[in-house]
Amino acid sequence: MKIAFIGLGNMGGGMAANLVKAGHEVNAFDLSEAALGAAAEKGCETFTDAREAVAGVEAVVTMLPNGDIVRAVYTDTVIGNAPADAVLLDCSTIDVTSARDVIAAAEAAGHDMVDAPVSGGIAAAEAGTLTFMVGGSETAFMRAQPILQAMGKAVIHAGDAGNGQAAKICNNMLLAVHMIGTAEAFAMAQKLGLDPQTFYDISSVSSGQNWSMTSYCPVPGVGPKSPADNDYQGGFATALMLKDLKLAMEAAGTAHINPRIGALAKELYEAFDAAGNGTRDFSAIITEYS
Ligand code: NAD
Repeated sequence: MKIAFIGLGNMGGGMAANLVKAGHEVNAFDLSEAALGAAAEKGCETFTDAREAVAGVEAVVTMLPNGDIVRAVYTDTVIGNAPADAVLLDCSTIDVTSARDVIAAAEAAGHDMVDAPVSGGIAAAEAGTLTFMVGGSETAFMRAQPILQAMGKAVIHAGDAGNGQAAKICNNMLLAVHMIGTAEAFAMAQKLGLDPQTFYDISSVSSGQNWSMTSYCPVPGVGPKSPADNDYQGGFATALMLKDLKLAMEAAGTAHINPRIGALAKELYEAFDAAGNGTRDFSAIITEYS
């Protein structure tokens, strides 16, 4: 299949390479020359004009920083230049409203389109083991599914347009909450005289058990290997967690719900980020309690 890929950064670079590995012809476009150079090395055909990159393709995949850029790329470039029967897949993490607006505009121009944000970081993008949460019509999902399968290990239909983004931000809000809760429990257990490994042995088989504890423990040397064992480098950056929490709070406003613990998690990550911890893994928030 001939696929245009727009946004070849940390995530998109690996994803586009996996499409090439799966036998697709990939037309790559990015504003960054370095990103285009890397894409060429991975077997993509590179373009300096986005309109040329999307001309004549059967599908367009985008992996861009935010909702305003996604709106602009689809409005200015993709819609009107890609063939109307091309299926469109936006894999960026953006606000639910922008996702729904862009899909409505694409559908009005005759396209099938999905929002398909991912769970998994740069390593999963390179390894082709991302999880995609997909919003859109049944037809759009069926068309997008084989393309997404070439870049991930799980592709789940979350319902109508925008529901992929909704699933992503609700999941990450919950992740932030149980990471902070886990960090607080370990810090308090230690100050009360418990050895962290002993607390892990007890809590990991008791009702406090959760993913942040047993798959991604914020305490170095406890549980399976995690960014805590690498001085909180790699993994999921605090700045990206904060981005998702801001999107979650924005969506909460439009949905007229007040997720109080989620809002508190956003405040705590905002302060942690502002203190210079934006590039550290989000589990480093435990260091605030030492
Ligand atoms: P990135 O900044 O590394 O890459 C974004 C790319 O988009 C850059 O190469 C940039 O030059 C390009 N770009 C920006 N504006 C453009 C435009 N108008 N036209 C063409 N290209 C343009 O970001 P990333 O880490 O790859 O993240 C991409 C998306 O994936 C974001 O929405 C992010 O929230 C999401 N995400 C990232 C991770 C992660 O671990 N990095 C994990 C899950 C989801």
